[in-house]
Amino acid sequence: MMDTGELLDFQRAQLERWPMAAANFKALEGVETKIFRVGDVGVAVQYNPARIASTSAKVDAVSLAKRPCFLCRSNRPAEQMAIDAGDYEVLVNPFPIFPVHFTIAAKEHAPQLISGDGCRRFADMLQIACQLPGLALFYNGPRCGASAPDHFHFQAVEVCRLPLFEWFDCGLRIPYRVEHGCFFSIYDGVEWLKGLFDELQSLPENFGEVEPRVNILCRGYGNGVEVAVIPRRAHRPDFFGYGEGELLLSPASVDLAGVVVAPSPEDFNRKLTAEWLEALFRQTCY
Ligand SMILES: [Zn+2]
Repeated sequence: MMDTGELLDFQRAQLERWPMAAANFKALEGVETKIFRVGDVGVAVQYNPARIASTSAKVDAVSLAKRPCFLCRSNRPAEQMAIDAGDYEVLVNPFPIFPVHFTIAAKEHAPQLISGDGCRRFADMLQIACQLPGLALFYNGPRCGASAPDHFHFQAVEVCRLPLFEWFDCGLRIPYRVEHGCFFSIYDGVEWLKGLFDELQSLPENFGEVEPRVNILCRGYGNGVEVAVIPRRAHRPDFFGYGEGELLLSPASVDLAGVVVAPSPEDFNRKLTAEWLEALFRQTCY
């Protein structure tokens, strides 16, 4: 059984041994943020140039086949340490969005699908979240922001960094569809997700895909677990790009939990407005 304190100690030890990752965490201290109001909620935009590789990652089958999988143990940098967690290993994310940022990767190289095998991975996610109070776990579907859709993984950050959970606590109206539930048993959570997936799978956008497009976030909550599922219409907006009238935004769980990551200085300093954020949500969510 791991706990939150053990993971925080692990991150400290890891950063002492890995200068590149330590420099990226250090750079976060000076990160610039702007807040835009979208409907009832305030959405933060974080300028984070180190995330360019993730935002613009090519996730088509041909590009994936050409690169060594960076989550497989045999391809990881020599400096990267891991904590054993049953079927998973906890790694420090070397390209962080927040001061605490872990990747929880399956030990085997298996596709990013949370619905397989009776949603077994989702049960794992809820169980791990219950072991790690103060941390939120999230899952980016293979066409919903995951930059390694060929290797199953969750990520974990501090709950307090994600406005979404505060929006729930305050009863705010979120400007896109979020399915929200609190469960006192992992079984109940899994049955709920299966029912929701059956419904989402019939949406035209999901036609022919193995599982519906979603981002999923959860946190341990009292004696149970709180879950948010954000159904997705599209992987990226139609204005995704580097040109004039285009923005380099590729939303994943963190963006839809209220912290939009903007790796381009042009976008952050000049182009981004609340109207662009509304368009981003309208095109990529319901
Ligand atoms: Zn792999």
